[in-house]
Amino acid sequence: MSLPIECLFCKFVAGTLPTEIVGQNERAIAFRDINPQAPVHVLVVPREHYADVATLAAASPEALADVIALAQEVALNEADGEYRLIFNSGPLAGQSVFHVHGHVLGGKKLGWNPA
Ligand code: AMP
Ligand code: ZN
Repeated sequence: MSLPIECLFCKFVAGTLPTEIVGQNERAIAFRDINPQAPVHVLVVPREHYADVATLAAASPEALADVIALAQEVALNEADGEYRLIFNSGPLAGQSVFHVHGHVLGGKKLGWNPA
């Protein structure tokens, strides 16, 4: 597989662009969203590049498990373990970065306006 050198999140993983890393494990890293939608808004991404969560699940269940474990760890550290985890899949769903990422949202009573 060729390296997706134009991928922003691959650059965060590689360390060639700076970001505030708030957690990491063997197969995933977590960093703050640049445009937070809640007091806690962290993105969790696999170190390897996959376009969306279904592709990740099919190709590397271990990496998906690490992404979810890291989301839980960040939420325990920053939001008492109460959080929402969102994977937008496809442009119509709001996906704008095509390196799969889970949004960890918390730190307040969340509303529900997904559409
Ligand atoms: P999505 O729209 O689900 O693909 O989510 C992409 C997220 O990446 C958005 O919430 C953006 O605010 C966030 N984002 C874009 N650029 C950066 C950046 N340089 N650092 C951190 N988060 C970013
Ligand atoms: Zn990538």
